[in-house]
Amino acid sequence: MPESLSRRRLLGAAAGAAAGVGLAGPAAEAATAATTRTAYASAQPALPSGLFALGVASGDPLPDSAVLWTRLAPAPVAGGGMPERAVEVRWEVATDERFRRVVRRGSESARPELGHSVHVDPQGLRPDTEYFYRFRAGGEISPVGRTRTAPAPDARPRALRFAFASCQNFTAGYFHLYRDLVQQDVAFVAFLGDYIYESAPVATSLRVHQGTDEPYSLTDYRNRYAQYRTDPDLQAGHAAAPWIVTLDDHEIDNNWADDFPQDPDKQTPEGFRARRIAAFQAWYEHMPVRRTARPNGPDMQVFRRFDFGDLARVHVLDTRQYRSDQVATIQEAEDPSRTMLGAQQEKWLDAGLLSGRQRWNLLANQTQVATNDRTAGEADSFDLDNWDGYRASRRKLMDTFAQPRVANPVVLTGDRHSTFIMDLERNPEQPGTPVVGAELCGTSITSGGDIPPSSQQQFHTTYDPIAAESPHWRYWDNRRGYILCEVGRERMESTLRSTEVVTKQEGAPVISAARFVTESGRRGVTVA
Ligand code: FE
Ligand code: CA
Repeated sequence: MPESLSRRRLLGAAAGAAAGVGLAGPAAEAATAATTRTAYASAQPALPSGLFALGVASGDPLPDSAVLWTRLAPAPVAGGGMPERAVEVRWEVATDERFRRVVRRGSESARPELGHSVHVDPQGLRPDTEYFYRFRAGGEISPVGRTRTAPAPDARPRALRFAFASCQNFTAGYFHLYRDLVQQDVAFVAFLGDYIYESAPVATSLRVHQGTDEPYSLTDYRNRYAQYRTDPDLQAGHAAAPWIVTLDDHEIDNNWADDFPQDPDKQTPEGFRARRIAAFQAWYEHMPVRRTARPNGPDMQVFRRFDFGDLARVHVLDTRQYRSDQVATIQEAEDPSRTMLGAQQEKWLDAGLLSGRQRWNLLANQTQVATNDRTAGEADSFDLDNWDGYRASRRKLMDTFAQPRVANPVVLTGDRHSTFIMDLERNPEQPGTPVVGAELCGTSITSGGDIPPSSQQQFHTTYDPIAAESPHWRYWDNRRGYILCEVGRERMESTLRSTEVVTKQEGAPVISAARFVTESGRRGVTVA
């Protein structure tokens, strides 16, 4: 599906037109509003207050649109608290924060079968432009969100500033790093997975997960997502910039792979399938993604692409839905029939990497691509949930990266809960193999908790000897954080914004701990 972007845009336009809110001018908008008001009978009982308790979000920026999201949930962790009927949600997009210059408005139906979430896809916005948006429902008005469209396809941007983050375990800390992120004026935030953790509540944790067990049902997952979204810093993070979100394992079940749960002895295939359907549905309901991502049972279209003029192309990967099950040994990991992306996504990615005329190819990826022997000395051990367990797939990707037509590939990765900056080698098993790309493994927003100096020291005691045997490693660090990237025409500079403390609600100092540079035309990454 090489042209999925234009396909999605066509689908988006069709959906907007069908809902009567697409390209309508002011008169048509007024007519739409009048019709919808009649449709939602006025004799309904009043709605509970606090409809916008989960805030607002935007995402998936295109040159002429960005998805605007909210979910009406006055009782966030108790099923949402909405009546079993559709509710009209009116929306406005303006070029100013006070909504004096409204450029688009319309209304959507927030329906119980989608948890009263709305995913507005306003069309006809200007490229590379900042917009403000808000919603109204039941006499209430939402907080104001800020979003930004992508540059036009023929634009030649001088710079693109964005951030990426992953792994926000609610029980491990407060999301105060987003307080730092919202001050960075980014074009978008890429979120690479582990938006929630599916673990059962533990009474002694810093913040206790809702519920009584791991989530299994749709209501369970709705409550879990809503609980995370009640964090004010996470809400502020979403309100400040569009997000480009993908998912990893903990959105559903630790280390799941396609039809396989973490513990097949405890979850039947039917049980896990139902769980996946529920988890996908709740993910969609809470993420600012296009309607084209609305799940169809256990399937959901997550891999997709975003272009930022001729400067950067962002390939968003889905390495969970189509992968072969994890194996136990490195011999099994070599099996050429194993796949990380699935045949269709692999073709789509190759085509997108080879056809792009952008200067930079950024991959929004979940688990580490670069090889990582985790035992110092002769013996070795690998995390086979990572690309180390899918060696044929990795080799194919590195072969594609090696083609001169693929400009400046940089993989952005989550999952590790520590920062690992690495060169990507064409064939890591061969000495003297060429460097074909760079990988920036970000750390986590909270997962892993505080890192006092003693923990940092322990981390280095473990990893420094391994690093000495891993010449492709450039930087490693155990603190929490996110990575801020500035993509220019000649170089990409990435800064690790990090903190040692996430367990204090009032926050803690966030510093620029290190800076990494990739030069255009030179594969790999260096520490500045
Ligand atoms: Fe994680
Ligand atoms: Ca070793």
